[in-house]
Amino acid sequence: TITTRFAPSPTGYLHVGGARTALFSWLYARKHGGTFILRIEDTDLERSTQESVDAILQGMTWLGLDYDAGPFYQTHHFDRYKEIIQTLIDQGDAYYCTCSKDELEQLRTEQMANKQKPRYNGKCRNSGKAHPGVEAVVRFKNPLDGVVTIPDLVKGEIVVANKELDDLIIARTDGTPTYNLTVVVDDMDMAISHVIRGDDHINNTPRQMNILNALGATLPHYAHLPMILGSDGARLSKRHGAVSVMQFRDEGYLPEALLNYLVRLGWSHGDQEIFSIDEMVEYFELADVNGSASTFNMEKLLWLNHHYIMHSDPAHVARHLSWHIGQLGIDPTTGPDLVDIVKAQRERSKTLVEMAAASVYFYQDFDGYDEKAAKKNLTVGADAVLMRLHEEFTAVAEWEKEALHQVIMTVSEAMALGMGKVAQPLRVAICGSAVSPAIDITLALLGKEKTLTRIEKAVN
Ligand code: GLU
Repeated sequence: TITTRFAPSPTGYLHVGGARTALFSWLYARKHGGTFILRIEDTDLERSTQESVDAILQGMTWLGLDYDAGPFYQTHHFDRYKEIIQTLIDQGDAYYCTCSKDELEQLRTEQMANKQKPRYNGKCRNSGKAHPGVEAVVRFKNPLDGVVTIPDLVKGEIVVANKELDDLIIARTDGTPTYNLTVVVDDMDMAISHVIRGDDHINNTPRQMNILNALGATLPHYAHLPMILGSDGARLSKRHGAVSVMQFRDEGYLPEALLNYLVRLGWSHGDQEIFSIDEMVEYFELADVNGSASTFNMEKLLWLNHHYIMHSDPAHVARHLSWHIGQLGIDPTTGPDLVDIVKAQRERSKTLVEMAAASVYFYQDFDGYDEKAAKKNLTVGADAVLMRLHEEFTAVAEWEKEALHQVIMTVSEAMALGMGKVAQPLRVAICGSAVSPAIDITLALLGKEKTLTRIEKAVN
């Protein structure tokens, strides 16, 4: 059976790199009918915060990456880690090391001077101390020779010589476990079959495999995902723009668009660009993940977002739009049906922030007109047109699109004006600017009362 996990350290928000790791782990589990676990790696007490935990959970929920078990917290497993550390000591696979900081520093300086890679020399390895008596760390007895072969499902086979790996610390002087130990214990206890994570962990993998071997555990499969770069080729970071998942929400992206973007970041299926969640689950293969870094491209994400705004169920888009309208301090229930707004606005909206901003006039009266639009359209001559429209609109009984379209036709014929000469002043009068959905749709959404008062105001 397949079990995967996403194991973020709660030291910041959920960023796009983490979200992609989570997505690939989630997809792999879903594809194989397996289990996806969320594990919060919060043992770094100084850097972990509840705020970050909340941000990660919120990001997962917004993306729709549901987990079958968890969230588990590593800080709840300290007893278990202690137990395993003791087991390793008892088995002779770990030992107390009493080398002082100064001693280790001196060793390091010597090695550097001899152009050697700094590594622990194993001085305490055979001290045979069952109890150290003095302050001591616990080190894992890494095998001295032979190699570790990582059959990486993305990068291919990676071979590391054991002599490159020194005896890493698995417990600090205060007895608390270190990162590599906690990961190993949880991966073993949670029977993780596939460890899918960023390739910044590749150096840890042979060490973790050696510890797992010492514990007689079944080794998981490993898949290390390549880095995500910004447009300048440097590792993606804040200075490239949004990297936090929730910031993409705030900037008006649909979760499906971000997921579709993320899945294509290093993974491909022929030349298909658009994937529904079901298609992602169906087609996802670790073998199709590209081993080299991929570049984050905001333009493409924006293009996908527009695609999803256009082609998703309008009711779904409306639910997300509702939140954005609320963000503007507007109660979205005080205006037209949001589904109708989505249908009217989606073509010209690349983001939901744009869509919400372009819809404010459906809810609120505006103070002034767009200067250029007013100068061009709200001329003295336009007053007659607006007054005539007002008269005709007042007489409309069924306030709906066709009837409103008919009014504009009638007025333009009666006054021998082109449609534009009628519709544009009207548009500026009711929307405040020269941009809106088709005029008859806009009028229908705005309603009779607001239309009439705004025309009156424009004429005065
Ligand atoms: N907690 C680690 C991180 O956030 C991930 C460890 C793992 O996936 O094995 O980078």
